[in-house]
Amino acid sequence: FLPGRLGGQSSMHDEIKEVLISEEALQEKIKDLGKQLSEDYQDRFPLVVGVLKGALPFMADLIKRMDIHLEIDLMAVSSYGASTVSSGEVKIIKDLDTSLEGRDVIIVEDIIDSGLTLSYLVQLFKHRNANSVKIVTLLDKPTGRKVDIKPDLTGFIVPDAFVVGYGLDYIERYRNLPYIGVLKPEVYEK
Ligand code: 5GP
Ligand code: MG
Ligand code: MG
Repeated sequence: FLPGRLGGQSSMHDEIKEVLISEEALQEKIKDLGKQLSEDYQDRFPLVVGVLKGALPFMADLIKRMDIHLEIDLMAVSSYGASTVSSGEVKIIKDLDTSLEGRDVIIVEDIIDSGLTLSYLVQLFKHRNANSVKIVTLLDKPTGRKVDIKPDLTGFIVPDAFVVGYGLDYIERYRNLPYIGVLKPEVYEK
């Protein structure tokens, strides 16, 4: 037993100010995205590349809605320090195991903000001779864009606010929320 939890004293959900996208809305949209991708990639055996860690829940649900043969791989990247962010330099923490030669790659992202991470990945994958590189993102924050990059498929457009949940973190927490929300301001003061 976790006595503190039994009285409902401390739930992670109490730290959320507002739910922006409910679990039901996420799942409905992911069903549609999966259907679209199944049509687009029929008989093409795409390589679905998830960008860790944020894309993990989205990718897990999305591939279950894709009724085609596919392969998956994962990549972990991080931006260099804030001072070099504008250079678009991205550090590879974990690279792919799969050769991209001639492959039809679908990059799965949690959110596109500045677009720097994705523009780096698209260039890298093309350089590795992928046949095609498409982007599916759960969320898009177009107001944050620093480079001209557009996802091929988008789940939801979000306003210029810091969102958490369903893969998206605040100092590594809240990735396990089943919905997308915004934190109460007092959470940042802790
Ligand atoms: P960018 O498009 O700026 O290169 O990077 C996108 C990454 O920044 C996302 O994968 C995510 O890790 C992080 N990010 C951008 N906006 C948000 C947000 O509103 N909330 C959270 N938790 N992460 C964000
Ligand atoms: Mg990401
Ligand atoms: Mg993060």
